[in-house]
Amino acid sequence: MDANKKWLAIPEDIRRKLRKNVFCTNCGDVAEIEQFTIEDHPAGIVLEGKCKVCGNDVSRVIED
Ligand SMILES: [Zn+2]
Repeated sequence: MDANKKWLAIPEDIRRKLRKNVFCTNCGDVAEIEQFTIEDHPAGIVLEGKCKVCGNDVSRVIED
């Protein structure tokens, strides 16, 4: 299963929570990720995108 399908297999309400719970090192806090792509990761998948607050690069690994 490719990374995008794995992501879409997660229920919508969980995906929404995951998107809004990404740690931004620039903000020093959790923020929402936007303009993200979904890539394969050894532990599952990883979202790679931008912090909605400051635009810093952020990522979040989602384990299988
Ligand atoms: Zn930020």
